[in-house]
Amino acid sequence: MKEITVPAPAKINLALKIKGLRSDGYHEVELIMQSISLHDRIRLRKNDGGIRLTTSDPSLPVGKKNLAYRAAEVILDYVNLPAAVDIHIEKRIPVAAGLAGGSTDAAAVLVGINKLFGLSLADEVLLELAAGLGSDVPFCLHGGTAFAYGRGEKIRQLPDIERLDLVIVNPGIPISTPWAYTQYDRSGKKSNLPVNKLLQIIEEDKEIDWQEGWGNDLEGIVLKEYKELPLIKERLKAMGAQFVLMSGSGSTFFAVVEDQKQGEEIRDNWPDKKDFVTIAWTVKKDFPELW
Ligand code: ATP
Repeated sequence: MKEITVPAPAKINLALKIKGLRSDGYHEVELIMQSISLHDRIRLRKNDGGIRLTTSDPSLPVGKKNLAYRAAEVILDYVNLPAAVDIHIEKRIPVAAGLAGGSTDAAAVLVGINKLFGLSLADEVLLELAAGLGSDVPFCLHGGTAFAYGRGEKIRQLPDIERLDLVIVNPGIPISTPWAYTQYDRSGKKSNLPVNKLLQIIEEDKEIDWQEGWGNDLEGIVLKEYKELPLIKERLKAMGAQFVLMSGSGSTFFAVVEDQKQGEEIRDNWPDKKDFVTIAWTVKKDFPELW
């Protein structure tokens, strides 16, 4: 095999609970992670030597600062192979948006190089390499629906949920994740997100009722500081969404809608043309429909 193209789906958080600050400076979190159909595509091709990265988004770094580049380095180094691969990222996921765009590209490179070079590395090895690259990368290896805990790097795969149709809105406001967490700490808030109950709903394959306490502990903090954001949430609800939540530390919101048609209507009638708006849906573990 000389070349392979791997899909790299974005993630949303169906729940984001902050349990506290650890002595190592990371936050202890409990996250219900969900992959969605919005995805980057990563093309990997063997070359004569060196890692060369190109991307459709000129704002992204192309060297070691790109997490996908680092993923290629660590996996080839782990198996003592010379670094000799071209990586092209077709970027569709908004950057720095709380959708784990960099993490999913890195995970796709690990999965892709494992296949392209016929490495047959065990899942535990890939998970360990992924955790070394960033807290969200282990989840992104398989995606689907999963419970992430610790600093977010420990994963328990959950059963796939029934497809949800979504609208994704990103107004392009960059929000620093460390800033959001620090504000949360300063607020002195104590989380009351019922994560165990939510996990049980998924594990027992019960129908999701959006009144059950699905939520994001960072949302209140971010909505208070960035005055344009509450309007997005209100607008999505006014346009018929059943449920709207911020993903990660923002500034992306996802809205759960009745069906794809309703999603398309919201997208087509979205008044603010500068916002990134797309329809999407939840995808299953290993996202077979995206390959
Ligand atoms: P998370 O949801 O995990 O907090 P995010 O979606 O908010 O992540 P990313 O899109 O991963 O954020 O981008 C965060 C930063 O990482 C950007 O400043 C970007 O320059 C850098 N970065 C490095 N590699 C990539 C990549 N392959 N794709 C996107 N951003 C990347």
